[in-house]
Amino acid sequence: MISFSSIQPTFAAQPPTTSAADTSRLFHHQVSFPSPPHHHRQHYPPARRHGLRVRAMDAAQPYDYEAHLINRVNQSTKLKIAVVGFGNFGQFLAKAFVRQGHTVYAHSRSNYLSVAESIGATFFSDLHDLCEQHPDVILICTSIISTESVLRSLPLQRLRRNTLFVDVLSVKEFPKNIFLQVLPSHFDILCAHPMFGPESGKHSWQTLPFVFDKVRIGDEDSRLARVENFLDIFRKEGCRMVEMTCAEHDKYAAGSQFITHTMGRILEKLHLDSTPINTKGYETLLDLVENTASDSFDLYYGLFMYNENAMEQLERLDLAFEALKKELFGHLHDVLRKQLFGKSEEGAVRRPVLGKLPKKGTPFLSPGHPQSETLGNEKE
Ligand code: NAP
Repeated sequence: MISFSSIQPTFAAQPPTTSAADTSRLFHHQVSFPSPPHHHRQHYPPARRHGLRVRAMDAAQPYDYEAHLINRVNQSTKLKIAVVGFGNFGQFLAKAFVRQGHTVYAHSRSNYLSVAESIGATFFSDLHDLCEQHPDVILICTSIISTESVLRSLPLQRLRRNTLFVDVLSVKEFPKNIFLQVLPSHFDILCAHPMFGPESGKHSWQTLPFVFDKVRIGDEDSRLARVENFLDIFRKEGCRMVEMTCAEHDKYAAGSQFITHTMGRILEKLHLDSTPINTKGYETLLDLVENTASDSFDLYYGLFMYNENAMEQLERLDLAFEALKKELFGHLHDVLRKQLFGKSEEGAVRRPVLGKLPKKGTPFLSPGHPQSETLGNEKE
């Protein structure tokens, strides 16, 4: 394309004898394009009537060249993102995508036509119609437990051959393996986990962790740029970007996120009420219940079922609770015996001590197991 740049050297060589208004008229006479808006006219470089030669059609509209360029750069970083699974979290993410100027398509089991419309996304109840839009990114945001069936139901043949698949499931090894099994090798794969939700991220995403693993990205520049464009959405919102493998994520998340959700759900069962004398600690517990209980049970169940480290954490939690009770009751027992038997038993009573739990990652041994005596009366 030849544009303003092609006639710029001619302008530069001319002494400034012609006014901006003359130049505008010159354009008007020599080529019959509409006159540019007034505020643009003033930016024309001075030129002599006969020195100006228009060599290309689009060179007649130099006034919008810069804007045009900026627009083109913007366009190249804007993505067409198809959110598959338009529930609680899918809608939450879609709002940010739209806010940043990306085109959002949505699909879900339920009909979210009007919700999508209100967000500025386009809803497709038919997956074929959605795929025929040729999105740059397919974002899987379904419940963990339904992910495999949803992925297998996608008409992959309707997509562009190098479409980028992203998942935002709260477990990572599972979707990675399913993606690698189901998606032909010409599709790119990014596994990601924004470690916040509609509650914890409702005001801002600043400093909130975003974990990702570039599982399979083709080495063409456009594909590398596309994945960075997608990650930029979260960078721009201020997320703390953490690149790690899916396996590492699952290990850390079982010890942190799964424990957090479990404690939140246990506390929820206690139906805690706010009191007039809430301590800061108690407020934290109430917040925890609010943050975790608003997530679906499917999500919590997925954290348990699809993270192989979760079972160990649940067992550690059980052990810790038992050990704590033992320590409390041991104290009580100690006091009672002193009252009952006085000095005669002094020195003979051994108070149960909270032993150390097995370190994370050591195999869990059932209470009857001969090597499971880490908890109990003896100190390590
Ligand atoms: P969710 O209960 O885990 O998932 C709800 C979504 O799954 C909805 O779009 C729902 O579709 C879809 N779905 C459920 N069962 C389905 C089935 N049998 N077939 C097809 N679709 C089905 O709740 P969520 O909070 O929206 O989470 C979505 C994903 O984001 C999960 O993988 C979760 O781990 C991840 N994530 C969530 C958070 C969070 O804070 N909420 C944070 C990070 C990551 P319909 O609504 O159409 O029924």
